[in-house]
Amino acid sequence: MERIYNFSAGPSILPLPVLERAQRELVNYADSGMSVMELSHRSELFTEIITEAERLLRELIGIPKNYKVLFVQGGASQQFAMVPMNLLNKSGKADYVNTGSWSKKAIKEAEKYGDIRVIASSENAKFTHIPTVDSSMIDREADYVHITTNNTIEGTAFHDIPDTGEVPLVADMSSNILSEELDVSQFGLIYAGAQKNIGPAGLTVVIIREDLIGKTPENCPAMLNYETHSDSGSLYNTPPTFGIYMAKLVFEWLKQAGGLKEMERMNRDKAQILYDSIEKSDLFTSPVDKGSRSIMNIPFVSTSAEADAAFIKEAKAKGLETLKGHRSVGGMRASLYNAMPIEGVESLVTFMEEFEHKYK
Ligand SMILES: *Cc1c(COP(=O)(O)O)cnc(C)c1O
Repeated sequence: MERIYNFSAGPSILPLPVLERAQRELVNYADSGMSVMELSHRSELFTEIITEAERLLRELIGIPKNYKVLFVQGGASQQFAMVPMNLLNKSGKADYVNTGSWSKKAIKEAEKYGDIRVIASSENAKFTHIPTVDSSMIDREADYVHITTNNTIEGTAFHDIPDTGEVPLVADMSSNILSEELDVSQFGLIYAGAQKNIGPAGLTVVIIREDLIGKTPENCPAMLNYETHSDSGSLYNTPPTFGIYMAKLVFEWLKQAGGLKEMERMNRDKAQILYDSIEKSDLFTSPVDKGSRSIMNIPFVSTSAEADAAFIKEAKAKGLETLKGHRSVGGMRASLYNAMPIEGVESLVTFMEEFEHKYK
């Protein structure tokens, strides 16, 4: 079996040891004579899986006791609605920062539920940097402030988390959760679709401060109310059991690899290799301002759409796949999530040099 280097933005590369373990355990999990997919979500074996998944996530990130961890479905896109449905419960106002396509979708959804103000945006600069957000911009009465910490499509990331004072900060961390150390106490709520840096699609992780639960308007559907999932330990209905099991295996792998401190060091090294290569190149350039660059999703362009297409095609033939940029921005994009080994980035950079040499 030949594995390729998959640079996809999501669903994305998973650690090979995790896939191999899942394969070994697939048809007979822990001598149950069943697959995890066939286990009751109320069984002892699955209870162990979900409990351990939460315990490991808490340990890895250092999640304080006054935060709940919820395993839900619906993707990050469902959180675009759940956040305003649950948290717009005092003034009905919220402040959003517009840093890209996903922020825009979050804003559009929130506008259905309350009075939404965009306090900073880099849309006029095609989202090539993160705008400044300082506490004076924030409405003291707002129920929350929303940011997208890593912009998967545009390749930008917040390097400083804005101080929102007493106003809870909500963050979409779909594409950078677990990529670096994180101080959860800076946030009221964090959410992330699993299919970028956690596991397979179908699972969404929510980390929410307890005081933000239980104030949701009465007419909120049970499945969209954080309280439902918090009260039931994410077992109100059937959760995405296999996704939670895979996430647990990824968390174990992360712990064994040295935790988030080591992950952050490796992710910074990997990103540096690619950024240095782009910097050095006469063919490839980065569209993103230096101070706002993501270490997870790295877009780059050559000098023409034809050269981009040739690059993507030839890279694929070398086992370097899914390097095409998002359809809204074009060019190339390499996603360097936790599971991407440094050898993958080195192969990419070597190929970029070869391509440039030949193309010039
Ligand atoms: C992928 C992504 C989303 C959408 O996630 P779904 O789980 O497909 O709904 C939202 N926000 C960010 C930052 C993403 O990277």
